[in-house]
Amino acid sequence: MVPRPKYLITTSALLASPSVLAVMVLSAVGALNIWIACLAGMAILIGVLVLLIRPLRRLRGIENQLSSLTDRAPDADIAVHTSDAGGPVGDIIAAIYRLDRIWGHNRKELHDNLQAAQILFDALPDPLLTLDADARLIYTNAAAQELLVGRHGISDLTGRDLSAVIRQPTILEAVESALSGEPTRTIEFTTADQVDQIFEARIEPIVAGNTNQDTARALILLRDVTELRRGEQMRADFVANVSHELRTPLTSLVGFIETLRGPARGDMDAQDRFLDLMQNQSNRMTRIVNDLLSLSRIEMNEHTAPDEHVSLQQVINTVADLLTPQARDSDVTIELDLDDLDTPVIGHQDELTQLFQNLIENAIKYGGAGSKVLVTGEVSDAFARVSVIDEGDGIPREHIPRLTERFYRVDTARSREMGGTGLGLAIVKHIANRHRGKFSIRSEPGIGSEFTIALPLATRSAD
Ligand code: ADP
Repeated sequence: MVPRPKYLITTSALLASPSVLAVMVLSAVGALNIWIACLAGMAILIGVLVLLIRPLRRLRGIENQLSSLTDRAPDADIAVHTSDAGGPVGDIIAAIYRLDRIWGHNRKELHDNLQAAQILFDALPDPLLTLDADARLIYTNAAAQELLVGRHGISDLTGRDLSAVIRQPTILEAVESALSGEPTRTIEFTTADQVDQIFEARIEPIVAGNTNQDTARALILLRDVTELRRGEQMRADFVANVSHELRTPLTSLVGFIETLRGPARGDMDAQDRFLDLMQNQSNRMTRIVNDLLSLSRIEMNEHTAPDEHVSLQQVINTVADLLTPQARDSDVTIELDLDDLDTPVIGHQDELTQLFQNLIENAIKYGGAGSKVLVTGEVSDAFARVSVIDEGDGIPREHIPRLTERFYRVDTARSREMGGTGLGLAIVKHIANRHRGKFSIRSEPGIGSEFTIALPLATRSAD
Protein backbone atom coordinates (compact mmCIF):
# COMPACT_ATOMS: atom_id res chain seq x y z
CA MET A 1 0.00 0.00 0.00
CA VAL A 2 1.55 3.32 -1.10
CA PRO A 3 0.96 6.42 1.07
CA ARG A 4 -0.49 9.38 -0.77
CA PRO A 5 2.53 11.49 -2.11
CA LYS A 6 0.79 14.72 -1.10
CA TYR A 7 0.58 13.66 2.60
CA LEU A 8 4.11 12.18 2.51
CA ILE A 9 5.71 15.40 1.27
CA THR A 10 3.74 17.84 3.41
CA THR A 11 4.13 15.75 6.60
CA SER A 12 7.86 15.23 5.96
CA ALA A 13 8.34 18.97 5.34
CA LEU A 14 6.42 19.80 8.51
CA LEU A 15 8.38 17.35 10.72
CA ALA A 16 11.76 18.24 9.20
CA SER A 17 11.22 22.00 9.36
CA PRO A 18 12.51 22.64 13.01
CA SER A 19 15.80 20.74 12.34
CA VAL A 20 16.24 22.39 8.91
CA LEU A 21 15.56 25.77 10.57
CA ALA A 22 18.25 25.07 13.23
CA VAL A 23 20.81 24.16 10.53
CA MET A 24 19.92 27.38 8.65
CA VAL A 25 20.37 29.46 11.82
CA LEU A 26 23.77 27.81 12.48
CA SER A 27 24.81 28.64 8.92
CA ALA A 28 23.51 32.23 9.29
CA VAL A 29 25.60 32.89 12.43
CA GLY A 30 28.64 31.44 10.61
CA ALA A 31 28.93 28.30 12.69
CA LEU A 32 28.29 26.10 9.65
CA ASN A 33 29.36 26.34 6.06
CA ILE A 34 26.42 27.20 3.79
CA TRP A 35 26.98 24.16 1.56
CA ILE A 36 27.24 21.78 4.49
CA ALA A 37 24.07 23.39 5.94
CA CYS A 38 22.23 22.78 2.64
CA LEU A 39 23.42 19.17 2.48
CA ALA A 40 22.42 18.63 6.14
CA GLY A 41 18.93 20.14 5.46
CA MET A 42 18.43 17.87 2.48
CA ALA A 43 19.62 14.84 4.45
CA ILE A 44 17.20 15.66 7.30
CA LEU A 45 14.31 16.03 4.84
CA ILE A 46 15.06 12.73 3.05
CA GLY A 47 15.58 10.92 6.37
CA VAL A 48 12.21 12.10 7.74
CA LEU A 49 10.55 11.17 4.44
CA VAL A 50 11.95 7.62 4.54
CA LEU A 51 10.95 7.22 8.19
CA LEU A 52 7.42 8.38 7.47
CA ILE A 53 6.73 5.96 4.59
CA ARG A 54 5.87 2.97 6.85
CA PRO A 55 3.52 4.69 9.35
CA LEU A 56 1.78 6.59 6.57
CA ARG A 57 1.35 3.37 4.65
CA ARG A 58 -0.35 1.80 7.66
CA LEU A 59 -2.56 4.82 8.12
CA ARG A 60 -3.60 4.41 4.47
CA GLY A 61 -4.44 0.80 5.31
CA ILE A 62 -6.66 1.94 8.21
CA GLU A 63 -8.36 4.44 5.91
CA ASN A 64 -9.02 1.75 3.30
CA GLN A 65 -10.35 -0.65 5.93
CA LEU A 66 -12.76 1.98 7.25
CA SER A 67 -13.98 2.73 3.71
CA SER A 68 -14.57 -0.95 3.02
CA LEU A 69 -16.67 -1.14 6.20
CA THR A 70 -19.07 1.50 4.97
CA ASP A 71 -19.16 0.34 1.35
CA ARG A 72 -19.70 -3.37 1.95
CA ALA A 73 -23.03 -4.98 0.95
CA PRO A 74 -25.13 -6.02 3.98
CA ASP A 75 -24.99 -9.71 3.07
CA ALA A 76 -21.25 -9.83 2.15
CA ASP A 77 -19.15 -12.55 3.74
CA ILE A 78 -17.10 -11.44 6.67
CA ALA A 79 -13.36 -11.70 5.91
CA VAL A 80 -10.93 -12.32 8.74
CA HIS A 81 -8.05 -9.82 8.39
CA THR A 82 -4.78 -9.97 10.26
CA SER A 83 -2.22 -7.24 10.66
CA ASP A 84 1.54 -7.71 10.97
CA ALA A 85 2.00 -4.12 12.06
CA GLY A 86 3.34 -3.52 15.57
CA GLY A 87 3.14 -0.56 17.94
CA PRO A 88 0.15 1.77 18.36
CA VAL A 89 -0.73 1.71 14.63
CA GLY A 90 -0.82 -2.10 14.71
CA ASP A 91 -3.09 -1.95 17.80
CA ILE A 92 -5.45 0.45 16.05
CA ILE A 93 -5.58 -1.80 12.96
CA ALA A 94 -6.25 -4.88 15.12
CA ALA A 95 -9.02 -3.00 16.99
CA ILE A 96 -10.58 -1.96 13.69
CA TYR A 97 -10.48 -5.56 12.41
CA ARG A 98 -12.18 -6.75 15.62
CA LEU A 99 -14.84 -4.07 15.37
CA ASP A 100 -15.32 -4.93 11.71
CA ARG A 101 -15.84 -8.62 12.50
CA ILE A 102 -18.39 -7.94 15.24
CA TRP A 103 -20.30 -5.38 13.18
CA GLY A 104 -20.15 -7.67 10.16
CA HIS A 105 -21.70 -10.54 12.13
CA ASN A 106 -24.40 -8.30 13.59
CA ARG A 107 -25.18 -6.76 10.27
CA LYS A 108 -25.39 -10.14 8.52
CA GLU A 109 -27.64 -11.52 11.26
CA LEU A 110 -29.90 -8.49 10.98
CA HIS A 111 -29.97 -8.79 7.20
CA ASP A 112 -30.77 -12.54 7.35
CA ASN A 113 -33.54 -11.95 9.89
CA LEU A 114 -35.02 -9.22 7.74
CA GLN A 115 -34.96 -11.47 4.70
CA ALA A 116 -36.60 -14.31 6.66
CA ALA A 117 -39.29 -11.90 7.88
CA GLN A 118 -39.85 -10.69 4.33
CA ILE A 119 -40.25 -14.28 3.04
CA LEU A 120 -42.68 -14.93 5.88
CA PHE A 121 -44.73 -11.79 5.18
CA ASP A 122 -44.79 -12.53 1.45
CA ALA A 123 -46.05 -16.03 2.16
CA LEU A 124 -49.01 -14.60 4.08
CA PRO A 125 -52.19 -14.91 2.01
CA ASP A 126 -53.51 -11.69 3.55
CA PRO A 127 -52.35 -8.23 2.44
CA LEU A 128 -50.12 -6.47 4.99
CA LEU A 129 -49.01 -2.82 4.89
CA THR A 130 -46.89 -0.69 7.20
CA LEU A 131 -47.12 3.08 7.33
CA ASP A 132 -44.93 5.92 8.54
CA ALA A 133 -46.00 8.81 10.76
CA ASP A 134 -47.54 10.62 7.75
CA ALA A 135 -49.58 7.55 6.70
CA ARG A 136 -47.29 6.84 3.74
CA LEU A 137 -46.57 3.26 2.75
CA ILE A 138 -43.24 1.91 3.99
CA TYR A 139 -43.73 -1.78 3.27
CA THR A 140 -46.29 -3.91 1.42
CA ASN A 141 -46.14 -7.70 1.27
CA ALA A 142 -46.73 -9.68 -1.95
CA ALA A 143 -50.49 -10.08 -1.30
CA ALA A 144 -50.88 -6.33 -0.70
CA GLN A 145 -48.99 -5.53 -3.88
CA GLU A 146 -51.15 -7.91 -5.89
CA LEU A 147 -54.30 -6.33 -4.47
CA LEU A 148 -53.30 -2.67 -4.66
CA VAL A 149 -51.18 -2.65 -7.81
CA GLY A 150 -53.86 -4.58 -9.71
CA ARG A 151 -56.58 -2.30 -8.44
CA HIS A 152 -54.93 1.09 -8.91
CA GLY A 153 -52.36 0.33 -11.59
CA ILE A 154 -49.60 1.94 -9.48
CA SER A 155 -46.31 0.10 -9.95
CA ASP A 156 -44.33 1.40 -6.96
CA LEU A 157 -46.27 1.61 -3.75
CA THR A 158 -43.47 2.63 -1.38
CA GLY A 159 -43.83 6.24 -0.27
CA ARG A 160 -47.42 6.52 -1.56
CA ASP A 161 -50.05 8.11 0.56
CA LEU A 162 -52.42 5.53 2.03
CA SER A 163 -55.40 7.59 0.84
CA ALA A 164 -54.21 7.04 -2.75
CA VAL A 165 -54.61 3.28 -2.49
CA ILE A 166 -57.34 2.75 0.13
CA ARG A 167 -60.09 5.32 -0.24
CA GLN A 168 -62.03 4.40 2.87
CA PRO A 169 -62.56 7.31 5.32
CA THR A 170 -63.05 4.90 8.26
CA ILE A 171 -59.69 3.23 7.57
CA LEU A 172 -57.87 6.56 7.20
CA GLU A 173 -59.40 7.74 10.49
CA ALA A 174 -58.41 4.52 12.27
CA VAL A 175 -54.84 4.81 10.93
CA GLU A 176 -54.63 8.36 12.24
CA SER A 177 -55.75 7.14 15.68
CA ALA A 178 -53.24 4.26 15.59
CA LEU A 179 -50.43 6.68 14.69
CA SER A 180 -51.31 8.80 17.71
CA GLY A 181 -50.95 5.71 19.90
CA GLU A 182 -54.56 4.56 20.23
CA PRO A 183 -55.19 0.81 20.56
CA THR A 184 -55.83 -1.69 17.74
CA ARG A 185 -59.11 -1.41 15.83
CA THR A 186 -60.86 -3.80 13.46
CA ILE A 187 -63.02 -2.33 10.72
CA GLU A 188 -65.03 -4.03 7.99
CA PHE A 189 -65.51 -2.29 4.67
CA THR A 190 -66.79 -3.02 1.19
CA THR A 191 -64.84 -1.91 -1.85
CA ALA A 192 -66.93 -0.11 -4.41
CA ASP A 193 -65.09 -1.52 -7.44
CA GLN A 194 -66.52 -3.53 -10.34
CA VAL A 195 -66.57 -6.59 -8.07
CA ASP A 196 -67.68 -5.85 -4.52
CA GLN A 197 -65.24 -7.27 -2.02
CA ILE A 198 -65.66 -7.22 1.74
CA PHE A 199 -62.48 -6.76 3.80
CA GLU A 200 -61.81 -6.88 7.50
CA ALA A 201 -58.97 -4.47 8.31
CA ARG A 202 -56.99 -4.76 11.52
CA ILE A 203 -55.17 -1.48 12.22
CA GLU A 204 -52.46 -1.59 14.85
CA PRO A 205 -49.98 0.95 16.15
CA ILE A 206 -46.40 -0.35 15.94
CA VAL A 207 -44.82 0.35 19.29
CA ALA A 208 -41.00 0.22 19.26
CA GLY A 209 -39.09 1.77 22.17
CA ASN A 210 -39.72 5.44 22.86
CA THR A 211 -42.19 6.34 20.18
CA ASN A 212 -43.14 9.89 19.54
CA GLN A 213 -45.13 11.53 16.79
CA ASP A 214 -42.17 11.45 14.36
CA THR A 215 -41.23 7.80 14.81
CA ALA A 216 -44.84 6.50 14.95
CA ARG A 217 -45.72 3.60 12.68
CA ALA A 218 -48.91 1.68 11.97
CA LEU A 219 -49.71 -1.67 10.44
CA ILE A 220 -52.77 -2.70 8.43
CA LEU A 221 -53.65 -6.36 7.97
CA LEU A 222 -56.48 -6.98 5.48
CA ARG A 223 -58.57 -10.15 5.35
CA ASP A 224 -60.92 -10.87 2.46
CA VAL A 225 -64.16 -11.94 4.15
CA THR A 226 -66.37 -11.73 1.03
CA GLU A 227 -66.95 -15.49 0.78
CA LEU A 228 -67.47 -15.80 4.53
CA ARG A 229 -70.09 -13.05 4.66
CA ARG A 230 -71.79 -14.34 1.47
CA GLY A 231 -71.88 -17.84 2.98
CA GLU A 232 -73.41 -16.46 6.19
CA GLN A 233 -76.01 -14.52 4.21
CA MET A 234 -76.80 -17.56 2.06
CA ARG A 235 -77.24 -19.79 5.10
CA ALA A 236 -79.54 -17.24 6.74
CA ASP A 237 -81.56 -16.84 3.50
CA PHE A 238 -81.73 -20.61 3.05
CA VAL A 239 -83.10 -21.21 6.55
CA ALA A 240 -85.63 -18.40 6.05
CA ASN A 241 -86.67 -19.86 2.65
CA VAL A 242 -87.04 -23.43 3.92
CA SER A 243 -89.09 -22.24 6.89
CA HIS A 244 -91.28 -20.18 4.59
CA GLU A 245 -91.76 -23.05 2.09
CA LEU A 246 -92.76 -25.49 4.82
CA ARG A 247 -94.85 -23.04 6.81
CA THR A 248 -97.36 -22.48 3.98
CA PRO A 249 -98.47 -26.15 3.61
CA LEU A 250 -98.28 -26.64 7.38
CA THR A 251 -100.59 -23.65 7.98
CA SER A 252 -103.11 -25.07 5.48
CA LEU A 253 -102.92 -28.50 7.14
CA VAL A 254 -103.62 -26.97 10.56
CA GLY A 255 -106.54 -25.04 9.02
CA PHE A 256 -108.02 -28.19 7.43
CA ILE A 257 -107.70 -30.16 10.66
CA GLU A 258 -109.55 -27.39 12.54
CA THR A 259 -112.28 -27.34 9.86
CA LEU A 260 -112.66 -31.13 9.97
CA ARG A 261 -112.99 -31.02 13.75
CA GLY A 262 -115.36 -28.05 13.65
CA PRO A 263 -117.73 -26.97 10.87
CA ALA A 264 -117.10 -30.02 8.61
CA ARG A 265 -117.54 -32.64 11.34
CA GLY A 266 -119.92 -35.28 10.04
CA ASP A 267 -119.96 -33.84 6.48
CA MET A 268 -118.60 -36.76 4.45
CA ASP A 269 -118.32 -34.80 1.16
CA ALA A 270 -116.38 -31.99 2.83
CA GLN A 271 -114.18 -34.51 4.62
CA ASP A 272 -113.26 -36.20 1.31
CA ARG A 273 -112.49 -32.83 -0.26
CA PHE A 274 -110.40 -31.66 2.68
CA LEU A 275 -108.52 -34.96 2.94
CA ASP A 276 -107.59 -34.62 -0.76
CA LEU A 277 -106.33 -31.10 -0.14
CA MET A 278 -104.44 -32.28 2.95
CA GLN A 279 -102.81 -35.03 0.93
CA ASN A 280 -101.70 -32.46 -1.67
CA GLN A 281 -100.12 -30.30 1.03
CA SER A 282 -98.40 -33.32 2.63
CA ASN A 283 -97.10 -34.39 -0.80
CA ARG A 284 -95.76 -30.91 -1.32
CA MET A 285 -93.90 -30.99 1.99
CA THR A 286 -92.53 -34.43 1.17
CA ARG A 287 -91.29 -33.18 -2.22
CA ILE A 288 -89.56 -30.21 -0.57
CA VAL A 289 -87.91 -32.41 2.07
CA ASN A 290 -86.87 -35.00 -0.54
CA ASP A 291 -85.39 -32.30 -2.79
CA LEU A 292 -83.56 -30.78 0.16
CA LEU A 293 -82.14 -34.17 1.10
CA SER A 294 -81.05 -34.81 -2.50
CA LEU A 295 -79.41 -31.43 -2.67
CA SER A 296 -77.51 -31.92 0.56
CA ARG A 297 -76.38 -35.44 -0.47
CA ILE A 298 -75.10 -34.17 -3.84
CA GLU A 299 -73.37 -31.21 -2.20
CA MET A 300 -71.66 -33.50 0.29
CA ASN A 301 -70.21 -35.61 -2.54
CA GLU A 302 -69.50 -32.69 -4.85
CA HIS A 303 -65.71 -32.78 -4.33
CA THR A 304 -65.44 -36.44 -5.42
CA ALA A 305 -66.18 -36.96 -9.10
CA PRO A 306 -68.20 -40.07 -10.01
CA ASP A 307 -66.42 -42.89 -11.86
CA GLU A 308 -69.14 -45.14 -13.37
CA HIS A 309 -69.64 -45.42 -17.13
CA VAL A 310 -73.18 -44.38 -17.90
CA SER A 311 -75.11 -44.58 -21.17
CA LEU A 312 -77.04 -41.32 -21.53
CA GLN A 313 -79.30 -42.91 -24.18
CA GLN A 314 -80.41 -45.45 -21.61
CA VAL A 315 -80.86 -42.88 -18.82
CA ILE A 316 -82.90 -40.49 -20.97
CA ASN A 317 -85.06 -43.28 -22.41
CA THR A 318 -85.89 -44.43 -18.87
CA VAL A 319 -86.75 -40.88 -17.78
CA ALA A 320 -88.89 -40.32 -20.88
CA ASP A 321 -90.83 -43.54 -20.18
CA LEU A 322 -91.31 -42.50 -16.59
CA LEU A 323 -92.65 -39.08 -17.55
CA THR A 324 -94.84 -40.18 -20.46
CA PRO A 325 -98.03 -40.41 -18.34
CA GLN A 326 -97.39 -36.91 -16.92
CA ALA A 327 -96.74 -35.58 -20.44
CA ARG A 328 -99.93 -37.22 -21.71
CA ASP A 329 -101.94 -35.65 -18.86
CA SER A 330 -100.49 -32.24 -19.80
CA ASP A 331 -101.05 -32.83 -23.53
CA VAL A 332 -97.31 -32.63 -24.22
CA THR A 333 -95.35 -34.94 -26.54
CA ILE A 334 -91.79 -35.98 -25.80
CA GLU A 335 -89.51 -36.45 -28.81
CA LEU A 336 -86.05 -37.99 -28.47
CA ASP A 337 -83.18 -37.56 -30.92
CA LEU A 338 -80.37 -39.49 -29.23
CA ASP A 339 -78.80 -41.51 -32.08
CA ASP A 340 -75.52 -39.58 -31.90
CA LEU A 341 -75.27 -40.08 -28.17
CA ASP A 342 -73.61 -43.47 -28.43
CA THR A 343 -70.53 -42.92 -26.23
CA PRO A 344 -70.88 -43.43 -22.48
CA VAL A 345 -70.06 -40.63 -20.05
CA ILE A 346 -68.40 -40.77 -16.66
CA GLY A 347 -71.15 -40.35 -14.16
CA HIS A 348 -73.50 -41.56 -11.48
CA GLN A 349 -76.56 -43.30 -12.94
CA ASP A 350 -79.07 -42.22 -10.26
CA GLU A 351 -77.90 -38.61 -10.21
CA LEU A 352 -78.02 -38.35 -14.00
CA THR A 353 -81.51 -39.86 -13.95
CA GLN A 354 -82.55 -37.18 -11.45
CA LEU A 355 -80.92 -34.44 -13.54
CA PHE A 356 -82.79 -35.36 -16.75
CA GLN A 357 -85.99 -35.99 -14.83
CA ASN A 358 -85.88 -32.45 -13.43
CA LEU A 359 -85.16 -30.89 -16.84
CA ILE A 360 -87.75 -32.90 -18.83
CA GLU A 361 -90.37 -32.49 -16.09
CA ASN A 362 -89.84 -28.71 -16.15
CA ALA A 363 -90.14 -28.72 -19.96
CA ILE A 364 -93.47 -30.56 -19.65
CA LYS A 365 -94.70 -28.27 -16.83
CA TYR A 366 -93.68 -24.97 -18.45
CA GLY A 367 -94.11 -26.08 -22.10
CA GLY A 368 -97.87 -25.84 -21.97
CA ALA A 369 -100.67 -27.94 -23.48
CA GLY A 370 -100.25 -29.00 -27.10
CA SER A 371 -96.51 -28.37 -27.08
CA LYS A 372 -93.55 -30.63 -27.85
CA VAL A 373 -90.48 -31.37 -25.72
CA LEU A 374 -87.42 -32.26 -27.77
CA VAL A 375 -84.40 -33.96 -26.21
CA THR A 376 -81.36 -34.01 -28.52
CA GLY A 377 -77.88 -35.34 -27.95
CA GLU A 378 -74.50 -35.15 -29.66
CA VAL A 379 -70.89 -35.96 -28.90
CA SER A 380 -68.07 -33.48 -29.55
CA ASP A 381 -64.76 -32.31 -28.02
CA ALA A 382 -64.67 -35.07 -25.37
CA PHE A 383 -68.12 -34.06 -24.13
CA ALA A 384 -71.62 -35.43 -24.56
CA ARG A 385 -74.10 -32.56 -24.93
CA VAL A 386 -77.79 -33.02 -24.27
CA SER A 387 -80.35 -30.25 -24.80
CA VAL A 388 -83.90 -30.27 -23.48
CA ILE A 389 -85.91 -27.88 -25.65
CA ASP A 390 -89.46 -26.79 -24.96
CA GLU A 391 -92.01 -24.55 -26.67
CA GLY A 392 -93.16 -22.73 -23.54
CA ASP A 393 -93.38 -19.02 -22.74
CA GLY A 394 -89.63 -18.76 -22.22
CA ILE A 395 -87.80 -16.95 -19.43
CA PRO A 396 -87.06 -13.20 -19.38
CA ARG A 397 -83.29 -12.63 -19.74
CA GLU A 398 -82.80 -11.00 -16.29
CA HIS A 399 -84.01 -14.15 -14.48
CA ILE A 400 -81.72 -16.63 -16.24
CA PRO A 401 -78.55 -16.14 -14.13
CA ARG A 402 -80.51 -16.72 -10.91
CA LEU A 403 -82.57 -19.78 -11.91
CA THR A 404 -80.14 -22.24 -10.28
CA GLU A 405 -80.39 -20.51 -6.87
CA ARG A 406 -82.39 -22.49 -4.33
CA PHE A 407 -86.06 -21.51 -4.27
CA TYR A 408 -85.64 -18.94 -7.04
CA ARG A 409 -88.68 -18.92 -9.32
CA VAL A 410 -89.79 -16.60 -12.09
CA ASP A 411 -93.41 -16.98 -11.04
CA THR A 412 -93.73 -18.47 -7.56
CA ALA A 413 -97.51 -18.97 -7.69
CA ARG A 414 -97.31 -20.78 -11.06
CA SER A 415 -94.45 -22.99 -9.85
CA ARG A 416 -96.36 -23.97 -6.66
CA GLU A 417 -99.54 -24.57 -8.60
CA MET A 418 -97.65 -27.10 -10.71
CA GLY A 419 -96.12 -28.79 -7.69
CA GLY A 420 -92.69 -27.14 -8.05
CA THR A 421 -90.32 -26.86 -5.11
CA GLY A 422 -87.98 -24.25 -6.60
CA LEU A 423 -85.08 -26.65 -6.06
CA GLY A 424 -85.05 -28.60 -9.35
CA LEU A 425 -82.52 -26.47 -11.23
CA ALA A 426 -80.31 -26.06 -8.11
CA ILE A 427 -80.11 -29.87 -8.02
CA VAL A 428 -79.29 -29.95 -11.75
CA LYS A 429 -76.46 -27.43 -11.27
CA HIS A 430 -74.91 -29.35 -8.36
CA ILE A 431 -75.11 -32.68 -10.20
CA ALA A 432 -73.44 -31.04 -13.23
CA ASN A 433 -70.71 -29.61 -10.97
CA ARG A 434 -70.08 -32.97 -9.35
CA HIS A 435 -69.76 -34.52 -12.82
CA ARG A 436 -67.27 -31.77 -13.84
CA GLY A 437 -69.85 -30.89 -16.48
CA LYS A 438 -71.33 -27.62 -17.74
CA PHE A 439 -74.90 -26.43 -17.51
CA SER A 440 -76.28 -23.59 -19.63
CA ILE A 441 -79.69 -22.05 -20.21
CA ARG A 442 -80.92 -20.21 -23.30
CA SER A 443 -84.40 -18.86 -23.64
CA GLU A 444 -86.40 -16.76 -26.03
CA PRO A 445 -89.55 -15.28 -24.44
CA GLY A 446 -92.58 -16.35 -26.46
CA ILE A 447 -90.68 -19.12 -28.28
CA GLY A 448 -89.29 -21.49 -25.66
CA SER A 449 -86.25 -22.51 -23.63
CA GLU A 450 -83.25 -24.75 -24.10
CA PHE A 451 -81.41 -26.31 -21.15
CA THR A 452 -78.07 -27.87 -22.16
CA ILE A 453 -75.88 -30.15 -20.15
CA ALA A 454 -72.35 -31.16 -21.22
CA LEU A 455 -70.73 -34.16 -19.53
CA PRO A 456 -67.19 -35.55 -19.96
CA LEU A 457 -67.06 -38.71 -22.08
CA ALA A 458 -65.64 -41.93 -20.68
CA THR A 459 -62.27 -41.97 -22.47
CA ARG A 460 -60.41 -45.13 -23.58
CA SER A 461 -57.77 -44.72 -20.82
CA ALA A 462 -60.54 -44.81 -18.23
CA ASP A 463 -61.99 -48.00 -19.72
P1 ADP B 1 -89.62 -25.37 -9.85
O1 ADP B 1 -89.83 -26.46 -8.92
O2 ADP B 1 -90.26 -24.07 -9.45
O3 ADP B 1 -89.89 -25.74 -11.27
P2 ADP B 1 -86.87 -25.25 -10.67
O4 ADP B 1 -85.65 -25.03 -9.87
O5 ADP B 1 -86.96 -26.50 -11.44
O6 ADP B 1 -88.07 -25.05 -9.70
O7 ADP B 1 -86.99 -24.04 -11.66
C1 ADP B 1 -86.85 -22.74 -11.16
C2 ADP B 1 -87.69 -21.79 -11.97
O8 ADP B 1 -87.16 -21.69 -13.28
C3 ADP B 1 -89.10 -22.21 -12.13
O9 ADP B 1 -89.90 -21.80 -11.06
C4 ADP B 1 -89.49 -21.49 -13.40
O10 ADP B 1 -89.84 -20.16 -13.11
C5 ADP B 1 -88.21 -21.49 -14.21
N1 ADP B 1 -88.15 -22.57 -15.19
C6 ADP B 1 -87.56 -23.77 -15.06
N2 ADP B 1 -87.66 -24.52 -16.16
C7 ADP B 1 -88.36 -23.76 -17.04
C8 ADP B 1 -88.82 -23.96 -18.39
N3 ADP B 1 -88.58 -25.09 -19.05
N4 ADP B 1 -89.48 -22.95 -18.98
C9 ADP B 1 -89.74 -21.80 -18.32
N5 ADP B 1 -89.33 -21.55 -17.06
C10 ADP B 1 -88.67 -22.52 -16.42
